[in-house]
Amino acid sequence: VAPMVGEKDAQAIALGYVEDASRVDKAKFKNYIAASTCSSCALYQGKAGEASGACPIFAGKQVVAKGWCSSWVKKA
Ligand code: SF4
Repeated sequence: VAPMVGEKDAQAIALGYVEDASRVDKAKFKNYIAASTCSSCALYQGKAGEASGACPIFAGKQVVAKGWCSSWVKKA
């Protein structure tokens, strides 16, 4: 299993990634849409019901399903 992205990783900080979308810095990341999470992001590779999954933004690592980052894109 791939390692998890750490919130303190440089790229995570740059993109505002958090493991729990309730902790998004909404003042800084004004593109945050209420209730959006990795699991509802078009880039998220995890299966429904799993706690984490891969994301091409963070190559080789896993992100938390209930997490969020500023590269979030609505699933089509
Ligand atoms: Fe989560 Fe999407 Fe950001 Fe990847 S791009 S960390 S799936 S919100």
